[in-house]
Amino acid sequence: MAISARVAVAMQRSSWIRRMFDEGAELKRRFGDDAVVDLSLGNPDLEPPAAFREALDGLVRDRTPGAHRYMANAGLPEARAAVAGFVAREHGVDPAADGVVMTVGAAGALNILFKALFDVGSRVVCPAPFFPEYEFYADNHGGVLDYVPTAAGFALDPDMIARALGTHTRAVLLNAPNNPTGRIYDDAALRAVGAALDAKAPEATLVSDEPYRRLCFVDGRLPSVLQATHRSVVCSSFSKDLGLAGERIGFVAVHPRHPERDRLLAALSFANRTLGFVNAPALAQRAVARAINARVDVAEYRARRDLLVRGLRDAGWDCTEPEGGLFVFPRSPIPDDIAFAHHLAHRHKVLVVPGTGFAGPGFLRMSIATPRERIARAIPAFAAARREVLAGDVER
Ligand code: PLP
Repeated sequence: MAISARVAVAMQRSSWIRRMFDEGAELKRRFGDDAVVDLSLGNPDLEPPAAFREALDGLVRDRTPGAHRYMANAGLPEARAAVAGFVAREHGVDPAADGVVMTVGAAGALNILFKALFDVGSRVVCPAPFFPEYEFYADNHGGVLDYVPTAAGFALDPDMIARALGTHTRAVLLNAPNNPTGRIYDDAALRAVGAALDAKAPEATLVSDEPYRRLCFVDGRLPSVLQATHRSVVCSSFSKDLGLAGERIGFVAVHPRHPERDRLLAALSFANRTLGFVNAPALAQRAVARAINARVDVAEYRARRDLLVRGLRDAGWDCTEPEGGLFVFPRSPIPDDIAFAHHLAHRHKVLVVPGTGFAGPGFLRMSIATPRERIARAIPAFAAARREVLAGDVER
C-alpha cells in the first residue's frame, strides 16, 4: 500500500467516535435512519443566529474589489479587531488586534500553535478525559501527549499537572467547558497551574482550547487562562456558539504580555501559511466579525442537557451535571464502557461513545446536539439497558 505506515497505524487506533459512526451507519442502513437514536456525534445542530445570516446576506451582495483575494496570513484587520474585542470582554485581558491570528477552526488554531511551539520530542501535558484528536494534532508536529488524571468530578488537579511538567514540556493544554465531561475549571486551579508552569516549565505555554466557552450553563464570567500566566494563549472557534462548524473559522489569541509575543505571532503566521491553510476563509472572517456578539440558542442546549441528565438519574444512572458544552458524560452502569455501548447499540439502537475513546474508561459520552424528542426516545432504552446489563444480560 502506498500510504505512510505511521498514518496507517494512527488510522487503525483512531477514534471511537468514528467507530461508533461506522457502527451506527450500518444500523441505519439495516433498520432505517428513524429507528436509530444517534447520540454519538457532536455536530452542532442549532442554526446560526439571525445576525450571522444578515451579515452573510450583505456580504454576498458586496461588490468591493479585492474581497476574495489573498490577505495577510494572520487574517483581515476587521476580523482580528473584532476577535480582540471579544476576547477582551470574555477574558478581561485585551490581546489587541495584532495579537490575534484567524484560523481554520479551533483544529487549525491548535495545529498552527503546535507547529509554532514544538520540536520533535516536545511534550504536551493534558488532563484526561480529553478530545482524542489532540494526540494526532500533537503528533503532526513531533509532539507527544502526557495525560494526567483529573480530580473528583473531573476537576482540574494542579498538583498532578505540576508533577507532569518536565524539561521537554512545551504546552499545557486545557479544554473547558470540556469535551467530553462538560466541566469548567475554576479560577484558583487555573492560577495554580499557571504558577506551576512559571516555576517548573518556563519554556512552556498554557493553552486553552475553548470552542464551547459560550455554550455555558452556569452564571457569571468563566475563568480565563489569560488571568493565570502571561505565557498563555487562547484557541477557539465559532463552530459551536455560532453553529458554523462547516465554515471552518476560528482564532488564536496570544496574551499581550507573553514574553515572546511577537516571535510567537510571527511563527503562527508562518505556520498558517506553510501548513497550507494560508489564511482563514475570507467570507467567514467578515461574517463573524459582524455577528460576533450573537449566539445560537444556548437555552435549547441547556433544556436538552436537563432532559438527558434528569432522564438518566431517574433511570438510576450516576451522572454529573455538565456545566457547559455539547455532551453528558455519565458513569457506565458496568465498568466495561465498550461492552455497554455495544449493548446499547445492538439491543436498543441507541448510539453513544465509550469513554475509553477519551481516556475516560468506565464512562459514556452522549451528545446533546440532537433534538429533544430524540433524547426523550433514548431514555427508556437507558433504563432498560441498565437493568439488563446489571442482571448479566449483555449483548455480545
Ligand atoms: N477542540 C475540541 C475540544 C472539540 O471538541 C473540537 C470539535 O469538536 C475542536 C477542538 C475542533 O473544533 P473546530 O470545528 O473549531 O475545528
